[in-house]
Amino acid sequence: MTMSFRIAIIGAGWYGCHVGLSLLSLQMQVDIYEKADRVMNMASGNNQFRLHQGFHYARHHGTRMQSRDGFIRFTERYGGLSSAVSENLYAVPRGSSIIDFDTYKLIMVSSGLNFIECQNPTDYLTDIDGVLRTHERVILLDRARRYFTERLGGVLKLGTSVDEIRELGDEMIVNGKRYDYVIDATWGHLNGLPIPVIYEPTLLLYYEGAPELPAVTLVDGPLCSVYPTEDSSIYTLSSVPHTPLGRFDRADAARARCNALTTEEVSEKRAAMERQILPNLPSFCDRFRFMGIQLGIKTKPIGNFDDRSCHVYRKGRRFFILSGKIDTIFYATERIISMIGFDHADLKDDGKGPIKKDILLSEMAAPSNFAGSNS
Ligand SMILES: Cc1cc2nc3c(=O)[nH]c(=O)nc-3n(C[C@H](O)[C@H](O)[C@H](O)COP(=O)(O)OP(=O)(O)OC[C@H]3O[C@@H](n4cnc5c(N)ncnc54)[C@H](O)[C@@H]3O)c2cc1C
Repeated sequence: MTMSFRIAIIGAGWYGCHVGLSLLSLQMQVDIYEKADRVMNMASGNNQFRLHQGFHYARHHGTRMQSRDGFIRFTERYGGLSSAVSENLYAVPRGSSIIDFDTYKLIMVSSGLNFIECQNPTDYLTDIDGVLRTHERVILLDRARRYFTERLGGVLKLGTSVDEIRELGDEMIVNGKRYDYVIDATWGHLNGLPIPVIYEPTLLLYYEGAPELPAVTLVDGPLCSVYPTEDSSIYTLSSVPHTPLGRFDRADAARARCNALTTEEVSEKRAAMERQILPNLPSFCDRFRFMGIQLGIKTKPIGNFDDRSCHVYRKGRRFFILSGKIDTIFYATERIISMIGFDHADLKDDGKGPIKKDILLSEMAAPSNFAGSNS
């Protein structure tokens, strides 16, 4: 794109930061409005920090493909913002997985994902049908925050909430300033999204353990996982049925649910999550010491599919990002750049009229007149 546009981005999570940096490198005039005093303050700073390859999503092809490709691009573009996980296991428990190990493995093979099948799982895990060792990585949050804060510099308007976006002719007005385009990167927290979504407040549990214990993800279905953080002796425990604190059709209701959480509820959730992991990781309570919690909010499309892929929607000069995983930031950026580029492509009418110039007159339509014909 050679033209420069004025673009306001609302939200400085992974999506706002990466899209902003990409547009700046295309010589766009960018402002990023962030209501918190630092970048990555909501979901981007409160998640399991797994750089996905797709192993989590046996039941959704699109999510798997986006993660597989996003992982490669993330490690190329932001090599220093993630680190290797020395032992990263996806284990299919006997009985509680909704698909069997051979089916799980076939799905991953056919998706082009690389792994090593562990023939003899150690006694670390019990009652397991099979295990894949993968190369998924962990995202380094502190480094990412420093990287984007430094690179984005004065473009970042921290501590600046956007409450209203107005359209004025061909321009958009954000906090009194004029723009050509607005990108809502709040994961639906500003004014919702153009498709039906639910907001799911979440509770992650933090534990301390010896450095470099295996990352274990039990698949597939309503199961749980223990994953390292950027500190090699701190881990998160997450559970599909127990991590959510409810489902809400409005973002403010989900935020209110987080604020209302009691210590009794945390104790109950903790007991339920530990009970869930013990049959397959019996030494969990001996190896890990509970430290505390972290609250986040997921925005999910309504539907029965396990779809966690990224989508970009558009209404006039306003784009909305339905974030997927963190490594789908590249997908969102390209969708936005291609739509802006298309708006300004030189598609002027050449005066010959549309389809008519491509229709041959019947007397010319013999095969010998067809430019592509071999006769
Ligand atoms: C519990 C949990 C675990 C997860 N685990 C993983 C994982 O392991 N790996 C992975 O890849 N993904 C994971 N995800 C998903 C991942 O966190 C999201 O895909 C990603 O963080 C979304 O980034 P974002 O920039 O769209 O949104 P956010 O990070 O939520 O950023 C939105 C920003 O908008 C700002 N904002 C909101 N309203 C306004 C306003 N009115 N004015 C100005 N600013 C505003 C907010 O302050 C916030 O900083 C997880 C999510 C959760 C909740």
